[in-house]
Amino acid sequence: MPACQRCTTARAALKRPKTGESVCKACFYLAFETEIHETITTNHLFRRGEKVAIGASGGKDSTVLAHVLHLLNQRYDYGLDLVLLSVDEGITGYRDDSLATVQRNQVQYGLPLKIVSYGDLYGWTMDEIVAQVGLKNNCTFCGVFRRQALDRGAVLLGVDHIVTGHNADDIAETVLMNILRGDIARLQRCTSILNNNDGTIKRSKPFKYTYEKEIVMYAYFKNLDYFSTECIYAPQAYRGYARTFLKDLEAIRPSAILDIIHSGEAFAAPSDPPSAKTTAAPAHAHGEKPAQRDAGECERCGYMSSQRVCKACVLLEGLNRGLPRLGIGKTDRLRRRHNLHEATSPETLGRTIEHMANVRLEAARASPAAAASPPTPPPPAGAAGVGVGEPSTALSAPSAAAATARGVGVANNDAPRLASRGALMEL
Ligand code: SF4
Repeated sequence: MPACQRCTTARAALKRPKTGESVCKACFYLAFETEIHETITTNHLFRRGEKVAIGASGGKDSTVLAHVLHLLNQRYDYGLDLVLLSVDEGITGYRDDSLATVQRNQVQYGLPLKIVSYGDLYGWTMDEIVAQVGLKNNCTFCGVFRRQALDRGAVLLGVDHIVTGHNADDIAETVLMNILRGDIARLQRCTSILNNNDGTIKRSKPFKYTYEKEIVMYAYFKNLDYFSTECIYAPQAYRGYARTFLKDLEAIRPSAILDIIHSGEAFAAPSDPPSAKTTAAPAHAHGEKPAQRDAGECERCGYMSSQRVCKACVLLEGLNRGLPRLGIGKTDRLRRRHNLHEATSPETLGRTIEHMANVRLEAARASPAAAASPPTPPPPAGAAGVGVGEPSTALSAPSAAAATARGVGVANNDAPRLASRGALMEL
């Protein structure tokens, strides 16, 4: 049996996918945790005393992130106030099960947990949205709503910083996708470890250099409680091809993942086009349209937005009008025809305004100081009669699609997958 290449005394238990080293479990844990600690300190991710929300989905990445941050916070005395923040997208048979995992993690790590839901924030669950839009653009809605939902949850909790479990594979895939699409302007945001310059709550990715396979191995060997079923609405399209390509590259050359991230960073020149909303420079310095602002607020919901009307409100209005394609892709003509940005009738905006008002009301109840952060929007003209505490507008959406519940695997059911990939060392 080969000996661990680090301590040279214990028996090696695995071959590290990132470095190819044969190591024992104890050395693997220490190397894995220390590399994340070094990423955190080298990039100055945290300030002492910061309240940090861990975006927790119950999946392997966020579960390992919660475990490791909790551990490092104690080991190195970061002085962080950690909380778990989850988003319930309303996906029957998937998110309800994964949130049960987060609730167990809350007990296991002794961390407070806040769950915000699309149903409460937007009046639409993903089951309802998929019933309306189908399976082609569902993730566009989900991604936009989730980003804002995390910000809203963070405001409710009064946190300074959100950390997410995006790992090196996720980032490399995104770099590949952006390059293949010719969308070089997005490279800066997708490769940056810390986003703190667009007026929203600070976000970071402590797993930027952590390989997915090592996260799975760490969760497996540590016997962590996580949920490993894919979303029932997951598309198998573009990202799937990028992922397969990346795995093929990794099999030939393990450093390919880090190489692609570094290439993305090198491409992300400071002279990115003005359409890149990620730039920290003032909008006027790049000749942006007056409607684009660095740290403005949506004139509809009053929330942080670099646009006059935030993307979530645009998508929401499309849903509420029964025209879900209004907010997606190249639909300018459709948008103009329906006069989207000028629409101000209570019928179309009622649900948007009501839900945003309810969120602020909840924030005010939870923490008056935190609630002071999001600006209070003036009610749009014509939306009079819709406000805080008023009765709910009747939902016009079709009834929720009953999603098919799928097999749920909790904790360590990645073992066969690991073994079949040859990730566990055959000794
Ligand atoms: Fe949302 Fe599922 Fe799409 Fe992920 S795969 S963005 S959870 S709908």
